[in-house]
Amino acid sequence: MSYVFVSPGKYIQGKGLLQDIAEYTAPFGKKPFVLLSKGGMNRFGDMIWKSFTDHGVDPVMKTFGGEVTKKEIENQAAIADKEGCDYAVGIGGGKVTDTAKFVAWKLKLPTVVCPTIAATDAPTPGRAVLYSEEGVSLKTYQLPRNPELVLVDAEIIAKAPVRLLVSGMGDALATRFETAACLKTSSKNPAGGYTTVAGASLAEACYKTLIKYGAQAKQDAMNKECSLAVERIVEVNTLLSGLGFESGGLASAHAINKGLTHIKEWDAYYHGEKVAFGTLCQLILEDQDPELIKEVFSFCKSVGLPTTLEEIGLTEKDEEKLKQAAAVAADPAGHTKNEPFKVAPDMVYQAFMKVHEIGHQMA
Ligand SMILES: [Zn+2]
Repeated sequence: MSYVFVSPGKYIQGKGLLQDIAEYTAPFGKKPFVLLSKGGMNRFGDMIWKSFTDHGVDPVMKTFGGEVTKKEIENQAAIADKEGCDYAVGIGGGKVTDTAKFVAWKLKLPTVVCPTIAATDAPTPGRAVLYSEEGVSLKTYQLPRNPELVLVDAEIIAKAPVRLLVSGMGDALATRFETAACLKTSSKNPAGGYTTVAGASLAEACYKTLIKYGAQAKQDAMNKECSLAVERIVEVNTLLSGLGFESGGLASAHAINKGLTHIKEWDAYYHGEKVAFGTLCQLILEDQDPELIKEVFSFCKSVGLPTTLEEIGLTEKDEEKLKQAAAVAADPAGHTKNEPFKVAPDMVYQAFMKVHEIGHQMA
């Protein structure tokens, strides 16, 4: 039996870091393969090019094709290989950075991840998701290495749409409760071992920091201000949530997210928004202390995360769809198996209804 904790080699966060990217990536070589989204190339392309060339580095800068497909990875990896690149850099959202992780894995190169949004905990883990040409997620790969460097420019994140930052808080909200379930049941974390004291402490810190700074961070981000609260929430969404889930574990919140992704109406909602709703359901399933439940609902309301069916594009009349989602969520091979009791589809459906009821009561 092994206790496993994984993390990126280095995490650096601060204001304006991306304009000095070459200083931070200097240990990895002289020929980076740099992948950006089309929008990212327009916004940051010149700045990044300048930083590298000012430092005598010759970057190969490429635009991401839009989806993390096998073909996209092979094409980008062929370019990086042909150009003799010595490390891969992904700058942007989760799909861009996951593609950079795949390219680096294929060519056995170090990876540098520079998130420009804080919508999920995708930057730090050694995992990446492969999609079909149609954008359907096919498989999550646990890669042999985490990124060597995660470089986070908080100023850029503060200027991104606020809904993305709030969504990241929703993803982070699950961390403490899912880790607690895994600890209780001695379930393995995504890194393949049991939870360390370090992993559990980070999950706890993730929740406490979220409650302390979440509402203020949203306010400041609406004013495009990179305040201390925003910096703390960027760390919560990126580092604490990322380390927390990978070295802590997953349970009902993410299982419910998976179940609800089968409902068409949910396509309009971000991962973190769905996970936040799943977290509320997990608390109901676990029959948690009413004070704690109240605290989590209040938090969700204070930042605008969904607490009712309407806020996720559904109503009580969608019974059939919700029952289907509950059945997927309660798949015995899925993450609900990490709860200290057997989760049946009907229990999940009842939890949807209870969350909806409390969400309305607290309006
Ligand atoms: Zn997540």
